[in-house]
Amino acid sequence: MMISSAPRSVQEQCAAWRKAGQSVALVPTMGFFHQGHVSLMQAAREKADKVVVSLFVNPSQFGPAEDLGSYPRDPERDRAMAGENGVDLLFTPSSREMYPLHFGTWVSVPSLSETLCGKTRPTHFKGVCTVVLKLFNICTPDFAFFGEKDWQQLTIIKRMAEDLNLPVQIVGGPLVREADGLAMSSRNSYLTPKERFAAAQISQGLHAARARFAAGERSAAKLEKCILDYWLDNLPQGRVDYLELVHPDTLEAQPLARTDTRMITAVYLGKARLIDNMSLG
Ligand code: AMP
Repeated sequence: MMISSAPRSVQEQCAAWRKAGQSVALVPTMGFFHQGHVSLMQAAREKADKVVVSLFVNPSQFGPAEDLGSYPRDPERDRAMAGENGVDLLFTPSSREMYPLHFGTWVSVPSLSETLCGKTRPTHFKGVCTVVLKLFNICTPDFAFFGEKDWQQLTIIKRMAEDLNLPVQIVGGPLVREADGLAMSSRNSYLTPKERFAAAQISQGLHAARARFAAGERSAAKLEKCILDYWLDNLPQGRVDYLELVHPDTLEAQPLARTDTRMITAVYLGKARLIDNMSLG
């Protein structure tokens, strides 16, 4: 596996692969790998001749009071895991390489970025879109893989790619969960053992609404209440940032729930802000 922190040499390597007729898949990450990341690497491996994984804790997607400084990092373990999963090139740029002095161009998709996570994290998706477009320009991938764990992010990236005619196919990968149902996340490492045990209730609440939907309930308000009541009883230490039932593509509220309606949520638990999502059907 090649490892490079230099955007120019990664650009040259990817261009050389494509010139030789080899397809390139990119998996953008912030590292501290878990099975969610690995599943995307493996899907990329199956799809393309060459797999590039970027590992960059992108400062511009963190708000001033957020966890940029304490975000978990383990570069050595990440390198080993990337190597074991057939990654051809690990791209590990520094902040200075990605955001040189006088950096001044930003990309955003306001229509989809102001809702859900965007309400609490108003500049987050602008940082995500900008870094992802930069990564696309550096790696010129044929395919780029994003997890459904970050449903709003995946929706926004698809919209950006379509709006800007980006020559890349955006591929979503299924959300990978721990055995007890907690969505895998690098930020789960912030949880104390007690919080980690309780955190399984987040997805259990969403399952409770699925069961209610299967039994015939179609009112989004009632389904939301069912989830909130479940959490009140089973996750009293959690603080709900938001919970919404939305259209999977437009992210607009769907008062009348359908099979493809997406339940999307963020819950604060201890030092962690945990996100999760699930379809109703
Ligand atoms: P991150 O390093 O958290 O920025 O995530 C990098 C990529 O992995 C993003 O596309 C995430 O959506 C995806 N990802 C993170 N956690 C999971 C998970 N539990 N299941 C599937 N994909 C995930």
